[in-house]
Amino acid sequence: MSATARATAVGRFAPSPTGPLHFGSLVAALASCCDARAAGGRWLIRIDDVDEPRAVPGAEREILATLGRYGFAADGPVVRQSERRAHYARALDALDARGLVYPCACSRRELESAPLSSAGERVYPGTCRNGIPADRASRPQRSIRLRVDEAVVEFVDRLQGPQRQDLAREVGDFVVRRADGLAAYQLAVVVDDAAQRVTHVVRGADLLASTPRQIHLQRVLGVATPSYLHVPIAVDAAGEKLSKQTRAPALPDDPLPVLVAAWRFLEQPAIAPATLAEFWSLASAAWSPARLPPAAMLPAPRIALAV
Ligand code: GLU
Repeated sequence: MSATARATAVGRFAPSPTGPLHFGSLVAALASCCDARAAGGRWLIRIDDVDEPRAVPGAEREILATLGRYGFAADGPVVRQSERRAHYARALDALDARGLVYPCACSRRELESAPLSSAGERVYPGTCRNGIPADRASRPQRSIRLRVDEAVVEFVDRLQGPQRQDLAREVGDFVVRRADGLAAYQLAVVVDDAAQRVTHVVRGADLLASTPRQIHLQRVLGVATPSYLHVPIAVDAAGEKLSKQTRAPALPDDPLPVLVAAWRFLEQPAIAPATLAEFWSLASAAWSPARLPPAAMLPAPRIALAV
């Protein structure tokens, strides 16, 4: 890579403010930060609060305080999706002007009986594609869906390898604006990654299945596609992803042991830092994506589960 290409690498960590950071989020933050720094690039923090009803008051402050205490330093101002609604609306208008989106009045319950793809996802059956059927016409709530015709998306994840999804068959027309008027995650993330010129997306493997939708949206909107690296997600003894729902404990006050545990979880070269500052200088220099375990999930270490 040339010096100029190196200088333009941009990575990001994009937590949703639905609760405090836990070990699983730390893994994504650490991997994205080390990966951007190793590429000689910038690393950004974005608060993914597009789903405003799910945002927990105080969670953003707590997340930012924890990241600061753990020694994460963003190379730019924190961006909040809740402040970027106008950008999402503009992208929707552009799609609408090209006839690529349509309103959908299907209820959640109706969608629950839609057929399942081989990956276990509901495939939108296209009910409202050619106009809202008469029996649904009086419903006030409408989501907006993107028309997906021929769209076989192929990409190579830097860790999980070649991926392929036939969007029309495996997902169908998907929601870009929710019935409550908020931009859907898929649209917001694409608009924001493009606006922030993100080149290296590093995040948990639970989002691998969303990536073809995002790449398709990038193509339709005419914006660049970043490279993708999906790291294993940390699961508890029951095999469940660490999350607020599975009562994953918040990160402890003392950062160093947990950072080292996250580093080991990612199977990175052995380091023995005595201080937080030393951790960051050793980790940034030793980051080795080739050593990352190519699994979708891995058991979390004990330190991540202790209450
Ligand atoms: N906000 C998403 C989450 O917390 C991550 C979005 C992304 O990395 O694309 O799961």
